[in-house]
Parts: sequence; structure tokens; C-alpha cells
Amino acid sequence: MVTTDEKLVIYNAIDKSININKISKHAVSIIRTLQSKNFSAYIVGGAVRDLILKLEPKDFDIVTDAKPCEINALFPKSRVIGRRFLLVHVKKGGAFYEVSTFRSGVSKNYIFQSHPLKKNNRKKYSTGDSEFGTIHEDAFRRDLTINALYYDPVKEQVYDFTGGVKGLLDKKVMIIGPPEVRFTEDPVRIIRVIRITAKLNFQIPSDIERHIFNKFDLLKDVSKSRLFDESLKMFLHGQGLASYELLRRFNGLKYFVYLNKKNRINKNSNQLFEVMLKSTDLRVKQKKSVSPHFLFAVLLWPSLLIQVSKLEKERSVVRKLMSISSKTVLTKQASIISIPKRYLFKIIDIWNLQIPLVERRAKDHQFIINHPCFRAAYDLILLRETIGEKLNDAGRWWTEYQKGNKCDQTKLLHEKAYNEKNYKLNTHFYE
Ligand code: ATP
Ligand code: MG
Repeated sequence: MVTTDEKLVIYNAIDKSININKISKHAVSIIRTLQSKNFSAYIVGGAVRDLILKLEPKDFDIVTDAKPCEINALFPKSRVIGRRFLLVHVKKGGAFYEVSTFRSGVSKNYIFQSHPLKKNNRKKYSTGDSEFGTIHEDAFRRDLTINALYYDPVKEQVYDFTGGVKGLLDKKVMIIGPPEVRFTEDPVRIIRVIRITAKLNFQIPSDIERHIFNKFDLLKDVSKSRLFDESLKMFLHGQGLASYELLRRFNGLKYFVYLNKKNRINKNSNQLFEVMLKSTDLRVKQKKSVSPHFLFAVLLWPSLLIQVSKLEKERSVVRKLMSISSKTVLTKQASIISIPKRYLFKIIDIWNLQIPLVERRAKDHQFIINHPCFRAAYDLILLRETIGEKLNDAGRWWTEYQKGNKCDQTKLLHEKAYNEKNYKLNTHFYE
């Protein structure tokens, strides 16, 4: 520790064992440029937190006292973006770096209350100077103490206004300010607490847990597209299983996934989600691709079957019931979060392929194997079998079919191990 004043504590990077080789040289070069023009500039947020924890930072966000137009003028390959707040994307080494100006964190509600005439001019006003602030204000408008650390890579010093370093040492996720106020201001912070706790394997202090329980319902009022983005960050960024477990503890999965009327998850559904998220986390770790449509095709699969079982009394063909039920389930899901259309079509394709994959009629093979969603649909078959759905050995059959040559495939086609006529979808498996 070098110096302290009333609130600020400054640490030498070396004392916090920050590995400077892990810091993007492009981020450092942007900071040097800003500092050379007498602006202050720091790396902030998740990157500093992750550097101190010796994790690989996902991205390097930069903050400065330069205004967006000043940043823009300094970097030829930059553009000003943002609807809620203006910030600048600076292109360096083929990647974009987010450079933002210190913000005061004055909430828009407050601004609108004091300036009702500005209500109709939201964009213009919300990007006005009134929202810019000092580094101190910028720190206190952030969500968690561990996310409010500033790193100057030139001086090699960490600036801590809120006790973030202590939070990292104690492995505790602490909210900056009164949790009930901060959660009400922006309920997405609840999800951020869950995601970051899951990612770091930290603890949520019990009083914050209580506020999470009390305020969870506010998520109903958050924009559905923002919730979709948050759901991907929770489930597809390597800490899906841990996030899911925390969400369940707070009874919060229903804010992201339509779980049929009673919001119940039976043992089989739980197992399906756990197995899928575990393998998704592993794929992220191995830097393999993961997809939103597969995620939601699996998360909504139990609800789809429950919906089919409700219609079964109508004695229609199961394919038709699946198609009607898909629409019902996705309509219900749309009232919770908004999944972009391009994914919805793929989710339906993954579901529609489930019965043909089990029946494996000879006339369907070419269509199935060439279908763009074949791989994801086959993965869902494997998952369903892993957790005990009886699918006439379809997983093994398609695994061998893909590996085999023409001759092996002909043998498989004549295999008597399955009897397509006897296949019956167990629609009660997830009830
Ligand atoms: P990750 O490693 O997953 O990117 P992160 O903490 O960097 O985690 P970002 O979404 O990249 O998350 O946000 C960058 C920083 O912006 C955060 O560290 C935090 O300081 C601040 N921030 C983000 N969202 C909020 C919010 N809803 N309220 C207050 N501060 C926020
Ligand atoms: Mg980040």
C-alpha cells in the first residue's frame, strides 16, 4: 500500500501480484495516448478484478476524464456509440476497446423528476454533461465493490474507493450502497450478483441474499431483450451450472425460462439442465462453440413435453401435437424474455427433429443428416438418453451412423434393434 486518503486506497500492482503480461498491450497503448494528452485513464471493472484473482480477463474496459468527442478525436479508428450513454469504441489490433468517460451515476429517474420537460428528449439529455462525473463518483455508481477497481498500467497502481480489494480477499460479493436501493434502481444487478458469484465461486453475504429474495420480482419489469442477453452471460460463459444452482436457490429460473404453469421442475428436468450446463461449461473451457438455440431448446424441452401431454387426450398424431405445443411454449417464453427470431426457428427445428431421429425411417435419413440443426438435435437426443428417457437406442445408432461408411450405414438400416412402430414418446417424463 502506498498512500491512503479519506476513502481512496492505492495499491502497487506488484503487491497485488498483477501479471502485467496478461494485460492487453492495445489497452495500455490507448491509455498511454490519453495520458499523453493530460487525461487520466485507467482499466476498470471486471478486468482489474480478474487480474488480481489471476483469472484471464474477458475484455479490457477503459475509463477516462476525456469526453466522448475528445476520445473520438484522438483515435482515428474510433466511433462514438451508445443509446443510454455515449461511449467510444476504439479499434486496435483488430479488436474494439470500450472507452468511456467517468460518469456521475445520477439516475435518469432523478434527472427526469427534476427536469420533466426533458422527458421527451431522453437520448439527447441522457448523454449530456450532467451524467459525466469524477473518478470517485464513477466508482460509486458501479454495482459491486470488486467491480469498482481502477488500474493505471503506466504507474502500475490499483485505485480502490469502495473496499473492493478486501472483497476479493474475503471472497465476498458486496453491493456498493444500500442493496435495496441499488436493486430497485436496476434489478439486473441481482442477476449480475448471481453471475459473478458463480463465476468467482464467492459468497453472497446473508443480508444481501435477503434483499435478492425480496427484490427478485422486479426482474419482471426489465426489458426482455436485456434479460435475454443476461441469460446468455449467465449460461454460456463458463459458469452456467453454478449460476443455475444459485438461481434455483432464489427460485429465479422462472424469470428466464417458461417452466409451465406451476413453475415446478421435477427431478428429471433438473437433471437434464444440470447435464446440459455441465457439458456447456466444459465446451466453453475447451474454447468450443456454444449456441443460444441449443441452450433454450433444452431449457424449454420439459415444458414442451408437458404441453404435449396436456393435448394428448385429443388423440392427434404426436408430430402435430409437438408443433402446436412448440408454438404455445414459445409464446409463453416470449412473455418472459425475448429470444431473437433467428434462434427461435432453430429451436423449433431441434424439437421437430427429435421424433424423426428416434424413428429413423429410411426415407428420412438424408434429410436428417443434412439438416443444419442435426448436430444440436442429436446432442439433445444424447442428453435425453443420459438422464433416462427411453429413445429406442437412438443415440448409439446415430453415433454409429455418422462414424460408419456406406456399408456400415446399410447394416444399421437393417438393424432390428428398434421398432419404429412401437415408439411412444413419454410425455409424462418431466411432470
Ligand atoms: P465480465 O468479466 O463478465 O465482463 P464485468 O464485471 O466486467 O464482468 P461488464 O458487463 O463487462 O461486467 O461491466 C463492466 C463494468 O461496468 C462492471 O465491472 C461494473 O463496474 C459496471 N457495471 C456493469 N453493469 C452495471 C450495472 N447494472 N450497474 C452498475 N454498474 C455496472
Ligand atoms: Mg467486462
